[in-house]
Amino acid sequence: MTTALSAVPATDALLGVYKRPPMEFVRGAGVELFDADGKAYLDFVAGIAVNALGYGDEGLERAMREAIEASLVHVSNLYRSAPGERLAERLVERTFADRVFFCNSGAEANEGAFKIARRWGRAMGGAAKHEIISLRGAFHGRLFGTLAATDRPAYRAPFRPLAGGISIMERDIEELEASLNSETVAAVIAEPVQGEGGVRVLEHEFLLALRELTRSRGIALILDEIQCGYGRTGTFLAHEQAGIVPDLLTVAKPMAGGLPMGAILTTKEIADPMQPGDHGTTFGGGPFLSHVALHVLERLSDPALLAHVKSNGAWMRKALQKMASARPAKIRAVRGLGYMWGIDITEPAKDVVARSLDAGLLVCSAGEHTLRLLPPLVMSRKDLERGLGILATAIG
Ligand SMILES: *Cc1c(COP(=O)(O)O)cnc(C)c1O
Repeated sequence: MTTALSAVPATDALLGVYKRPPMEFVRGAGVELFDADGKAYLDFVAGIAVNALGYGDEGLERAMREAIEASLVHVSNLYRSAPGERLAERLVERTFADRVFFCNSGAEANEGAFKIARRWGRAMGGAAKHEIISLRGAFHGRLFGTLAATDRPAYRAPFRPLAGGISIMERDIEELEASLNSETVAAVIAEPVQGEGGVRVLEHEFLLALRELTRSRGIALILDEIQCGYGRTGTFLAHEQAGIVPDLLTVAKPMAGGLPMGAILTTKEIADPMQPGDHGTTFGGGPFLSHVALHVLERLSDPALLAHVKSNGAWMRKALQKMASARPAKIRAVRGLGYMWGIDITEPAKDVVARSLDAGLLVCSAGEHTLRLLPPLVMSRKDLERGLGILATAIG
């Protein structure tokens, strides 16, 4: 099964919130997409870090067929469902977590994590202990709570008032030390690698200090690994590399192989105040999704895959640094790890994105002057090298 979509003309029937290039992808194979004219595009976007296994992956497609044949598609969360229970157990085995809640997207996972953190905050310190703090450069989603935690003025301004009790602070441990009030703050949320904010890797030193600070003040630490989790940085979860343990963690993008799914992972202690009725979702963790997600979890937590991401990521660092040092007037900085890279360029990123597209390479941006590379995790070194070659020409 390849990704066969029907060809449709450009339409104004869709809400105009995305600017899209004119061609349409009708098929995918391996790490390439093909447009209606048969032109191939090497994919350094992977559906924004979703298609970690690329296109037409045999194991993934087998899991989808099994899910159709063997499972109910949906039973609702009113009833038990074995695939979801098994998936939660596997996630608990592989991570810090004792409890898992499934939902349908990244923003929904973060909104739920805010609720769980607030419920716990209230149990610990009363109604005043409800504030959620996010960090400069953060992206946590586009719903009212997550938008309030997202540091993008242009995304926020037209939609005020946003959810209250959520504010943004500098990524600066001294400032956080001075401002985090244990009586009013329930949780701090951070992306170990900020994605939309320009691929900014939070230093291990900062993460360790943030963990220590939040722990010592009785504040929950939520890590948003919706983009950087599930193998992308070379460990199953990115924070493992800093040697810290969060209180809550959210995942989503790649977790069900392109089907919409998210999850909140947390500890028994944080989950304890949540009672039946306190949160819910119609679709989350259904049998079809969970069966597919079990397969994806096995694949993206496989030590061989993680070693491949790590070693090719180390190679990418060198290759990108070389590309940058040969173009000091065009490339200002490269940042990232594993299969997640940002390149600050002097030109508007959208111009290089467009030239790359013409040359048969998909890249996306993360801010006006930052290119973002998120190849499928199965991409070979040879294809990474080919993509970087196209990119170097497009940058000029
Ligand atoms: C994409 C993303 C989200 C939002 O996920 P949606 O599924 O689009 O709601 C939240 N946090 C991070 C870090 C993301 O990359």
